[in-house]
Amino acid sequence: MGQARSVVEVVSEAELQANVIELARLGGWLYFHDNDSRRNRAGFPDLVFVHPMSGRTVYAELKSAKGKLRPEQQQWIDALYRGGHEVYVWRPEDWPVLVQRVLLAERGVAA
Ligand SMILES: [Mg+2]
Repeated sequence: MGQARSVVEVVSEAELQANVIELARLGGWLYFHDNDSRRNRAGFPDLVFVHPMSGRTVYAELKSAKGKLRPEQQQWIDALYRGGHEVYVWRPEDWPVLVQRVLLAERGVAA
């Protein structure tokens, strides 16, 4: 491997989250993130977005480039997916293209 680290590798989950939330605001989404989840049961996705115009709901679990899903997180993701919900695991490499594709679609913007 070379010495230079790609931009993707140096983006933390927190940085990714800040970017995702800012994009969601631009797209007009309501969103929820639990800023202190220590007393919650583990596994629920990091972010939930609901678009006030369409009611479209999107769940997103954010991970650093090498972060692994815990079993409880995978269980939630699988269950939501089975129920027909929109659920994503976003990592720094998904920023910005894949995230934009989801969160800007409400405005009819093809990313
Ligand atoms: Mg996370």
